[in-house]
Amino acid sequence: MRKLLNLLLKPIKLLLRGIKALLHIFAKLLIPILVWMLLTLLVAEYVLKPQAPRLPPPPRAPTQQEVLETLRTRAPMKIQLMYLLLVKASGHQRDLNGVYVIPDPRWNAFVTNRNEIYFLSGMLAEIKNDHEIAYILAHEISHVMLGHTRKDRVPEDSRFSEFHSDMMALVLMQKAGFDPCKASGLWARMAKRSGSQIVTSSHPDPVQRAHYTKLPQCEAKK
Ligand SMILES: [Zn+2]
Repeated sequence: MRKLLNLLLKPIKLLLRGIKALLHIFAKLLIPILVWMLLTLLVAEYVLKPQAPRLPPPPRAPTQQEVLETLRTRAPMKIQLMYLLLVKASGHQRDLNGVYVIPDPRWNAFVTNRNEIYFLSGMLAEIKNDHEIAYILAHEISHVMLGHTRKDRVPEDSRFSEFHSDMMALVLMQKAGFDPCKASGLWARMAKRSGSQIVTSSHPDPVQRAHYTKLPQCEAKK
């Protein structure tokens, strides 16, 4: 009986021994195989695969200030002298930072948060006299005087601040020796071309502006 059992178990024992030997060989080979795979991967990744050329980082979009600085030229000497007279009359010499022209066919002028005044060339082209230039300069300087260009200001209706600046400009240009009566044609002309080339949504209606910037003494002079 015992002999028969031994006879039956013998192949199983042999099989187990075989498996053990295989595991032993495999364990010895495992580390070299892993190293080989790793080396192959590294070679494939860094030697065989062509490396994409290293490109410089994409350029960032220029800021509004940078665009203005690229486009602008200093305003003509006459405008700069008028600007200096008006700035002196405003008492804000320390706050204002120059007057510039940028090439743009539209009829507009503006002042930035840095208190730099810009004329679009389209506006300069249609100016009829120095008093009109003085009025536009005085309007932009008034925005600075009234604190409209301050970054920390509480936003208000832009038409309201435009009205304030228009009124202040009349006083300021008179103080600097210009004649507000001779600037009133500006709004009448603007009203005529309203809706075509100018942006009116953030500004009072030019017809209204022509009306409220007409001073009583101007009527008397006629
Ligand atoms: Zn304005």
